Amino acid sequence: MTRQDIGILQNATPIDPVRSHAVVIGAGLGGLASAMRLGARGYRVTVVDRLDGPGGRGSAIWKDGHRFDLGPTIVTVPQVFRELWAACGRDFSEDVDLVSLDPFYEILWPDGERFCAYRDPARMEKEVARLSPGDVKGYRKFLRDSEARYQFGFEDLGRRPMNRLWDLIKVLPTFARMRADRSVYAHAARRFRDPRLRMAFSFHPLFIGGDPTRVTSIYILVSHLEKAFGVHYPIGGVAAIARAMENVIRSQGGTVRYGVEADEILVDQGHVQGIALADGQRVTADLVVSNADSGHTYQRLLRNHPRRRWTNQRLARTKWSMGLFVWYFGTKGTRGLWPEVGHHTILNGPRYRGLIRDIFLKGTLADDMSLYVHRPSVNDPTVAPEGDDTFYALSPVPHLGHSDSVDWQTEAERYRQKVQAVLEDQLLPGLGAHLTASEVFTPNTFRDRYLSPLGCGFSIEPRILQSAWFRPHNVSEEIPGLFLVGAGTHPGAGLPGVVSSAEVLSKLVPDPVRVP
Ligand SMILES: Cc1cc2nc3c(=O)[nH]c(=O)nc-3n(C[C@H](O)[C@H](O)[C@H](O)COP(=O)(O)OP(=O)(O)OC[C@H]3O[C@@H](n4cnc5c(N)ncnc54)[C@H](O)[C@@H]3O)c2cc1C
Repeated sequence: MTRQDIGILQNATPIDPVRSHAVVIGAGLGGLASAMRLGARGYRVTVVDRLDGPGGRGSAIWKDGHRFDLGPTIVTVPQVFRELWAACGRDFSEDVDLVSLDPFYEILWPDGERFCAYRDPARMEKEVARLSPGDVKGYRKFLRDSEARYQFGFEDLGRRPMNRLWDLIKVLPTFARMRADRSVYAHAARRFRDPRLRMAFSFHPLFIGGDPTRVTSIYILVSHLEKAFGVHYPIGGVAAIARAMENVIRSQGGTVRYGVEADEILVDQGHVQGIALADGQRVTADLVVSNADSGHTYQRLLRNHPRRRWTNQRLARTKWSMGLFVWYFGTKGTRGLWPEVGHHTILNGPRYRGLIRDIFLKGTLADDMSLYVHRPSVNDPTVAPEGDDTFYALSPVPHLGHSDSVDWQTEAERYRQKVQAVLEDQLLPGLGAHLTASEVFTPNTFRDRYLSPLGCGFSIEPRILQSAWFRPHNVSEEIPGLFLVGAGTHPGAGLPGVVSSAEVLSKLVPDPVRVP
């Protein structure tokens, strides 16, 4: 294998034989952010992704004039993007139009009660008091708890490497002081008596694939970051951010190739040498960054290399995040309809903890469901034809690894109809008469489209013994020259997490070799 092998890629950037070459597998937000950081550091960068465009879970598809943003819809901590752009000598606000939403989202319960989340703590206190006057004091304490955990969990832990045991040992006293062994739900239950408020202040881990009754309470940090930095939406969807990232990479001289699947990470003489593509071609590299799921990276891409830590047995024992059923749909002539339905709605079913148990522990598809409903067309005219709406409804479901797992081939349409019935009954009366475009993603789609282990939505679940040092490290434990970014590594899933993993990466990679 020679450096010239890279030339086999059509339209590849001309080979620079003396500049270090980094290959990034995956153009998810973590992979793109890594490519930007490596490009800014002086690496020659090639990104490959098996999909036909950038963004991974944050990509979009078009159908009958509707743009379906497939995954992330809420941008929190926008400064991670601003800092990323600044590291590349660019201004994020020139490339992406981010709008701030307030209220952030609305939560509904079957009894007709609603809770609206605002940025202003005084308005939030009013909402808390409306549901449960006795819980206002607890809310204030919860916010203080949340801020302390934000400073520790996000600003400190989340932005630095956690690949040495010593890194973990140093933070153990803080973990103990903050009772990180307690779950998000347990923490909320100590501060709120009202079961609806316990839900409203503990559901957030579901957006990064965690069971709120098991995920470490460090994750209550979300309440603070929402209040401090707001909840945002990019016009054009998260796919617009991904496209802007691709543009920066190209402007740095990097190459981004789609429809190209990595089949194996090549290792020789104890060091990464590059990757083999599914069509048999090889791309040499001085370092490889995998933004593919860490489970896929170790189990599939390093299948021919002996592994000490991330063995197949260990990955089989790992707790994975839940699966997702997502129904994307368009509606005709509805812009004036359902005026009370905003950009983000959480529609609770009759059960909270019981449903979570069914999804995460029992692995059964329950008859009842709770839905997250996205209606970007209230803020983004680019997402639907004029007068129409674009929606998605997301239901957390078991991943494919449970015994007797759901056969989505036969179940998908039946389940979609159930979702539609719940929406017609509780949120969007008359929906059926307006339906146009429709598309369904099940855990099978996540398995086949993103090569996600067990078809899960968010990679490895963020339990305490699967977080920080316990997660697959950003610098591989198995092979020198291999680095990992994205949801399945430190610090974890969610846009701020995967973009931060690229920041951590940039602290770990050596300086590139340059022309003398
Ligand atoms: C429905 C949904 C809603 C969400 N909502 C939010 C939200 O509102 N806010 C938020 O912050 N987060 C949200 N998230 C989480 C967030 O989207 C993800 O954690 C994040 O986008 C994952 O990014 P990543 O860098 O890990 O890569 P991914 O998006 O997983 O991308 C990995 C890429 O690698 C490619 N790939 C994999 N294997 C190979 C291979 N062998 N060869 C070539 N390419 C390969 C895949 O094609 C994919 O493009 C949501 C996720 C989902 C699914």
